[in-house]
Amino acid sequence: MPFCPYCKKKITMSKAFCSDDCKENYFHLVSIQVPKPFISRLYTFHNESEREIEIIKYSKLHNMKLDLLRKKVYSAATKAGFIDGVSNKNTSLQSTYGG
Ligand SMILES: [Zn+2]
Repeated sequence: MPFCPYCKKKITMSKAFCSDDCKENYFHLVSIQVPKPFISRLYTFHNESEREIEIIKYSKLHNMKLDLLRKKVYSAATKAGFIDGVSNKNTSLQSTYGG
């Protein structure tokens, strides 16, 4: 059984995506380019709320879907080492226990 490349749901052999939305989002996500200097500026000079504003501005400027751009920024920042996936997990674990 093949999977939808966007949401990873199982789909029938005759389909490439489970829905038109997934197809649209998939190609939109592929087309989004986030330059490294943009990522490093976001994570070096901006705090969380400023970062959010910059991402919104960028998505409007380049006519991108905000949630998809966010996804892309997050994965690019993780790859570039600005977000440490391991320590993030630890933090969320601690906050679970801390209430
Ligand atoms: Zn899908």
